[in-house]
Amino acid sequence: MNYDQARYGDDERNEPLLAEKHSVTVDPGEDSVLPDDLTRDSLELPGLSEPELSRHYTRLSQMNWSVESGPYPLGSCTMKYNPTFIETVAADPDAAVHPDRDPETVQGNLELLYGLQEYLADIGGMDAVTLQPPAGAAGEFTGITIAKAYHERNGDDRSEVIVPASAHGTNFATAAIAGYDVVELPSGDDGRVDVEALSAAVSEDTAALMLTNPNTVGLFERDIAEIADVVHDAGGLLYYDGANLNALLGRARPGDMGFDVMHYNVHKTFATPHGGGGPGAGPVGVVEELADYLPRPHVRRVDEASGEAAADGGALADPDGGAGSGRSDPGPDPEFELYDPDHSIGKVHGFAGNWLVLIKAYAYIRRLGDEGLLDASAKATLNANYLAELLELDVPYAPFHHEFAATAGDRDAADVAKGMLDYGVHPPTTKWPEFVDEAMLTEPTEVENRRSLEDLAAAFNRAMADSDETLQEAPTRTASRRVDQTAAARNPRLSWQALDDARGE
Ligand SMILES: *Cc1c(COP(=O)(O)O)cnc(C)c1O
Repeated sequence: MNYDQARYGDDERNEPLLAEKHSVTVDPGEDSVLPDDLTRDSLELPGLSEPELSRHYTRLSQMNWSVESGPYPLGSCTMKYNPTFIETVAADPDAAVHPDRDPETVQGNLELLYGLQEYLADIGGMDAVTLQPPAGAAGEFTGITIAKAYHERNGDDRSEVIVPASAHGTNFATAAIAGYDVVELPSGDDGRVDVEALSAAVSEDTAALMLTNPNTVGLFERDIAEIADVVHDAGGLLYYDGANLNALLGRARPGDMGFDVMHYNVHKTFATPHGGGGPGAGPVGVVEELADYLPRPHVRRVDEASGEAAADGGALADPDGGAGSGRSDPGPDPEFELYDPDHSIGKVHGFAGNWLVLIKAYAYIRRLGDEGLLDASAKATLNANYLAELLELDVPYAPFHHEFAATAGDRDAADVAKGMLDYGVHPPTTKWPEFVDEAMLTEPTEVENRRSLEDLAAAFNRAMADSDETLQEAPTRTASRRVDQTAAARNPRLSWQALDDARGE
């Protein structure tokens, strides 16, 4: 019995919200400077000592799984360790600048953003990169919106986006939200895009094909040059979903494969925090022809401006119109500026994007360097292949790169995953992609060493050897037992109090 079981018995562990633990009533007093109708009589605030606060968060962290506590081999959504040095860099007090500052006073920040744009462009083989989108999915939306603006400006009325069956759900959602009809392309027998089926699907209605490479079962689309020709010959654009870029770092570039527009999931490839759909970053790269459509404002070197006017109301721009905001020393001439690309699709996020996340991506790329990035993609692929060798599960599609879809065969993949939790590891992605029976989509990433991979394999194999009855009961050794996933999504109870009230009903 571990410490938590001793503390909580067989009951599921629960941690009240801070205010539910102990709250104090604060009286605003007589001397409020605010008008009476804008103040309240009292306010409940958490009233806890520092140790209580610290223990609260420590307990919450212990109830959770994270890549800090063990391998987290979630396929497709690459979960790799975030080294602490990137946190240190982002925590530098000088990094905390107000986004409304006059660009002339934040030249260092702009230089870093510009540097990251350049690194990403180089890594992806793209000509220009925006850092504004706050997540991979937001990057997809940005990229497809750019493709749409491009076609529209060319007077080209196109209504469809083609998405392979193996694509991530966000690809379908992106195409639909951008206003396109989604054409689903079934996977070929070998798990890849079937070029003949693609040729039959493209037409003068094709705005773009969205493709992940290696795809979501870890297979490199080896017909990519032909695929690019088919799409381009039909007048469409080729979109690269960058979720699996970790497999290619330093080895192959989407731009060289014929892709026109792509997103980078910096949390999957450059080890920044995932952000839970929130404050992350999903930069978008484009080829030259699409650069004028990027979101505004965009960072560039002043000497690249070639006579174009800089943004007058850009996010970081000086609200007074560049009068210098009372700075006494004008300093050297600014090297970097913000500008609005000519046919910009507008803004997809506030200011220049999630700056503190972008710093982390920049720091990670700088620390690894060319050699380190090359090493990351090699080890990501080696680790996936070593792990698959140790598993007593079939992998129907091979040889693969950085991830593989094993099949649980006649077992229920979700039950096996719950069983793995009891052996102390986070399970892989299950039941997706759908064309693999009872899929367990596994991606150990380059951060695991040999022993850790062997432990992970042991957990897989032990769970596979457990009886159906045991697996259906699992997990039994976690903070929370098996949850009703549908109810959790449809009828969430977001606090301990709400749960307690519901129990009393
Ligand atoms: C994660 C993922 C996305 C979406 O990216 P987010 O950054 O999570 O929004 C898109 N496509 C694939 C293949 C992914 O794995």
